[in-house]
Amino acid sequence: MDASTTQSATQAVQQLVQSPNYILEFTYLLASILFIFGLKGLSHPDSARRGMFLAEAGMAAAIIGTLFHPDIHFYGWIVAGLILGSLVGVAFAVWVPMTAMPQRTALSHAFGAIAASLVGIAEFLMHSSTLSLFTRSALGLEVMLGTLTTTGSLIACGKLQGTIRGTPVQFKGQQILNLLIFFAMTGCFAYSLYDPSATYYFYGMVALGFLFGVMLVIPIGSADMPVVMSLLNSYAGLSSAATGFVLGNNILIIAGTLDGFSGFILSILMCKAMNRSITNVLFGGFGAVHHAAGAGATGEMHEISLDDAAVRLAYASKVVFVPGYGLATAQAQHAVRDLANALEERGVTVKYGIHPVAGRMPGHMNVLLAEANVPYGELYEMDQINPEFPSTDVAMVVGANDVVNPDARDNPNSPIAGMPILEVDKAKSVIVLKRGQGRGFSGLENPLFFKPVTSMLYGDAKASLARLAQEVKNV
Ligand code: NAP
Repeated sequence: MDASTTQSATQAVQQLVQSPNYILEFTYLLASILFIFGLKGLSHPDSARRGMFLAEAGMAAAIIGTLFHPDIHFYGWIVAGLILGSLVGVAFAVWVPMTAMPQRTALSHAFGAIAASLVGIAEFLMHSSTLSLFTRSALGLEVMLGTLTTTGSLIACGKLQGTIRGTPVQFKGQQILNLLIFFAMTGCFAYSLYDPSATYYFYGMVALGFLFGVMLVIPIGSADMPVVMSLLNSYAGLSSAATGFVLGNNILIIAGTLDGFSGFILSILMCKAMNRSITNVLFGGFGAVHHAAGAGATGEMHEISLDDAAVRLAYASKVVFVPGYGLATAQAQHAVRDLANALEERGVTVKYGIHPVAGRMPGHMNVLLAEANVPYGELYEMDQINPEFPSTDVAMVVGANDVVNPDARDNPNSPIAGMPILEVDKAKSVIVLKRGQGRGFSGLENPLFFKPVTSMLYGDAKASLARLAQEVKNV
């Protein structure tokens, strides 16, 4: 390398280091790449942890890069915000239990959405008369999506936490009222584009956006909240992308679009796994309890004693655990792992069948079992494990109900007809761990529990599994 090349390289590096814009653009590019690889990692349990770290590193890069923004003249508020935000984030991470993760996520969406709304309102206050039509459109969209996501997410959080009634709130003329609010809100948006000096219309849109968020979510039952949240997440992402267009900020455009579309795809996947349409989730009022009996849900349930269950497990050659929402409420993930260990020590083959909507949020079972260090290789998706049930000696249902309800497959009149299930009823024997006669999220009776192949072991899943592990060791 000659002297002039070395000199120009040195100059380029000096320019990069001295110019905040270069650092900003470089960190934003790095953050975008990390977000994309992070999302890719999250698509499989094996790589999910790495994906999470990459996305976190991306967020750190984006924050650090923003600190070099040339428009920042005073760091005081930013430092205060960083400290406050970090304190709240750490408190959430330390004190919110895994079972409360859905409502905690809803609260995070509300925070993100209110931040985007406030940025939009501030931009409007400061520059509304000088902005181009395109920027004003993006700004209006940002504030509209941001405001409705804020209140929608807060209602979702309240419903999931139980502070607001979880059952759908429905009344006559509700959908017409919602349509009227929607048209009034978009009308205000359109008029504020046409006449930027008509500030009342802009603030009218803000108020109607907050109201629309409430009206959109109250008719939906708490059990459908994960789908709603994923949809609200998508709105929050699109709102952030619109903020990016308003501020001319690339990272907001990229991250917002990734968030917006991944949230939307997730909502569709969840609906598919429940065999429901998005419109059925949004307008169906599914959280209302059905109390339908279900074809074949008659006769007697057969109870099994703990000792007999332990013997059956200990002498099996293949056992498949099927976890559901009850595993999460009982926090039985470590107990199931201990029982699996005890069985494996006896030479029993152990596998786990994971239904895509088992529990109450996407990946719920994967997260819990990963926490208990269950090897990923033992987790099988529905399509992989279903053909294995006929050769399974014991299918052990741990607090699952709807995801193993054969009515979904056999009874075309069932409200969950067509929902893909884990076909545990095809196993040589089934043991169901649950506390009593409680129904699942759909409120339907489950014919599986009445089948001759099924034995019920009543009690809290964690306690039953712990005692079973002990008994298996003693057999
Ligand atoms: P589920 O149908 O809600 O059934 C859970 C069962 O666990 C109940 O029957 C309950 O019976 C039992 N249980 C509760 N606490 C227990 C404890 N401490 N020990 C032992 N058993 C306990 O659960 P699932 O089979 O996982 O199905 C999930 C449902 O949620 C599906 O209908 C799905 O469509 C819906 N959903 C899921 C998502 C998602 O993203 N995962 C999103 C929206 C909706 P007892 O009361 O008798 O114990």
